[in-house]
Amino acid sequence: MVSIEIVSEEGDMVTVLFKDSDRALLNAVRRNLMGHIPKMAIDSVRFQMGTYDQCSKCEHLNPAGVARRSAGGTGCSKCGVAFEKEGDDYIVWETNSAIPDEMIAQRMAMIPIPTNPEAYSFEEDCPDCKDLVEEDRGCPTCNMIYTLRAFGSKEGRDITARDLTFLGDDSGNVPEAYRDIPITRLFEGQMLELWATARMGYGVHHAKWSPVAGVSFFPRQIATIANEKKAKLLFDLGLRVSKKDFKSGQLKDISKIMDLKKDLHNVGAGTGMSESFDDAIKLEDVDGEFILSFETDGSMTPIEALNASFTKLSQRFNAIKDDIEHVLA
Ligand SMILES: [Zn+2]
Ligand SMILES: [Zn+2]
Repeated sequence: MVSIEIVSEEGDMVTVLFKDSDRALLNAVRRNLMGHIPKMAIDSVRFQMGTYDQCSKCEHLNPAGVARRSAGGTGCSKCGVAFEKEGDDYIVWETNSAIPDEMIAQRMAMIPIPTNPEAYSFEEDCPDCKDLVEEDRGCPTCNMIYTLRAFGSKEGRDITARDLTFLGDDSGNVPEAYRDIPITRLFEGQMLELWATARMGYGVHHAKWSPVAGVSFFPRQIATIANEKKAKLLFDLGLRVSKKDFKSGQLKDISKIMDLKKDLHNVGAGTGMSESFDDAIKLEDVDGEFILSFETDGSMTPIEALNASFTKLSQRFNAIKDDIEHVLA
């Protein structure tokens, strides 16, 4: 029976030990993490287009042109001040910037959106709107809506994930650690106004729906000192691992082994020491034990991702089992 153990969990990174396992299972878990976990991501963005005359006195945004004296306007519709000279009485803002809308939408898609599969459904399974035709689907049970309205400045202002406002409670806001992800940079006269819709999806369809990065696994190894005298060459360098870490000539601790592998590069090929060191410390694979490590993009914790992966994997295996039983019946 496969068993797992969390070796370390730091922020969005996790290292897990699998026992009584094999490469096929580890690879299935790896592929599932990347492509088959339900995840929220911004999937469509509606850009508001327009030009505004902003009153220098009260900052009210008037529709472009109509308030200007030169166009026969009566001034700011809020405070009544006359709009005579651009730059003095009013500033013109346009909803454009150096970066095309498509690219802004693409950048927004890659911002981690907090994912809660208990609170949100896929549109096609949504209890409230799944029976509608595809174009009409989308409701508070399956969509998360964000708005953004940002203005530039003379020196240029970075517009980041921090400027996104979720229409709902705090749980939908982009996590603090990811709020500095840049979207664009705006200068005076440039503004951005948009609505963005996040939907559930799977990584197999687009990278924005994949919550993990750097998913890898390797066999668990233990280290044995084969030649004490030559091994001293490495210990004398005073790196991460020392002789004291070895118990009766063996080292089993997983994180220490990872450190040791880095240390061994200092006496390996190309260092001029490989001959005198002569593989004095040997690494051997442990049968049936593997170490999986990955990090998430912040849309969920690594443990949530791992659990989602196991749930999905068991559903898929059960589906195959049912199919086989059906065929053989
Ligand atoms: Zn005004
Ligand atoms: Zn819905």
